[in-house]
Amino acid sequence: MEPIGLFGGTFDPIHCGHLRTAFELWQELGLAEVRFLPTGHPPHREHLVASAELRLAMVRAAVAEQPGFVVDDREVRRSGPSYSVDTLSELRGEYPQRSLCLLLGMDAFLGLPTWHRWRELLELAHVVVAHRPGWNAPTRGPLGELMVDHGTGSIRELHERPAGCLHVRAVTQLEISSTELRAALVAGRDPRYLVPDAVRQIILDTRCYAAQQGP
Ligand code: ATP
Repeated sequence: MEPIGLFGGTFDPIHCGHLRTAFELWQELGLAEVRFLPTGHPPHREHLVASAELRLAMVRAAVAEQPGFVVDDREVRRSGPSYSVDTLSELRGEYPQRSLCLLLGMDAFLGLPTWHRWRELLELAHVVVAHRPGWNAPTRGPLGELMVDHGTGSIRELHERPAGCLHVRAVTQLEISSTELRAALVAGRDPRYLVPDAVRQIILDTRCYAAQQGP
């Protein structure tokens, strides 16, 4: 059984940087699927701009046409903060033997030591880190040590073991972020080609970033 890729995010909104990264990891690592997990109430963000329901709707619209991409709404349905360690524990319960790969961009990986019970994550899943423009792999500190202790270049190892490996991967570098997209909407710019057409349509129809989008 091929590994399951788990791609969490606020997805406020989902964009082509997320989608291309997920697509390349799905293909190159031979994942059975990439499961998108929009966050409900992320512990690290003071406030989100679009509602959880709308962020979820945008993720659903973005992945609808892509085989192998699926949406998991458990964090949106959960009340209270969404901790990745809780989500992974739940998934581990559902798939006791299966290889699970937590997919992270380099910026998210660098913030890992601030996550709740972060050291347990590698007991529950592999961590696959995709390069992201402007962020370098850590060489020192707890994450540098994690790279030495758990790092692997072997995709086979990701398939053969259920958890415990850290794999850093180059992907096509797309300098797109949700923060910059929201700022572009403030400035009245069109997000065409930075997000899938279906997501752009939801943004325009619902004016979910209207406070930023202006009158
Ligand atoms: P924001 O700017 O609001 O922080 P974001 O664009 O970083 O949002 P998130 O939803 O926070 O998007 O990211 C979810 C995951 O996707 C994280 O692991 C992040 O590192 C990764 N990611 C986001 N944008 C890219 C990108 N352009 N290339 C590769 N990975 C990305």
